[in-house]
Amino acid sequence: MIDNKSFYKLSYGLYIVSSVSEGKKNAQIANTVFQITSDPFMLAVSINKQNLTHEYIQKSKLIGISVLSEETPMDFVGKFGFKSGRDTDKFSGVSFKTLDSGVPVVLDNAISCFKLHVEKEIDVLTHTIFICKVLNAELLKDTEQLTYKYYQDIKRGKTPKTAPTYIENKNNFLPVNDMPKYKCSVCGYIYNSAVGDPDAGIPAGTLFEDIPNDWVCPICGATKDKFKKII
Ligand code: FE
Repeated sequence: MIDNKSFYKLSYGLYIVSSVSEGKKNAQIANTVFQITSDPFMLAVSINKQNLTHEYIQKSKLIGISVLSEETPMDFVGKFGFKSGRDTDKFSGVSFKTLDSGVPVVLDNAISCFKLHVEKEIDVLTHTIFICKVLNAELLKDTEQLTYKYYQDIKRGKTPKTAPTYIENKNNFLPVNDMPKYKCSVCGYIYNSAVGDPDAGIPAGTLFEDIPNDWVCPICGATKDKFKKII
């Protein structure tokens, strides 16, 4: 048997994986970056074959890794995680540095960074695991890293009642189930009027129409016009 809940007990971090090819750079979010050996220093990185970053890595054999800080804003994760480099320049407005051979490494919200060279590729159906030698490793900030669990439990607003940041929904002037919901067409996030978006200062009970126009999807950073009414 396969119990899907078993997989939730595996733990991960969140990283920005970047690469370069013929002067063009791209980067994406990945949660599968892990150390394999320490003598020599080797890391493994698993990337979906459909991603533009995958294509660049195969061509250049170079990878940049940024380990994200726990304070990383949701829209920053969304910028690298839910948008394709084929449509947008993910580096616009982002602080980064270019290492030897042109491989970019994102600095915003990064607490450490690596430059890797691909030594071996392992084909795993939908993904390729790149086995890499560490050429450069740098500690940028000695603070907590963003774990996948933290991203899911805290950043998505699923704050436990016992947490000091928990906000009780007191605006029950409309039955919760009757309040309209709007879905982000980019990432699938659902804005629920009954819940609001307290992290962005939108209190529970705020109708979608009443949200300021500069509000963006808390997951992927999409603008308000990318939302469609679903109920
Ligand atoms: Fe979104």
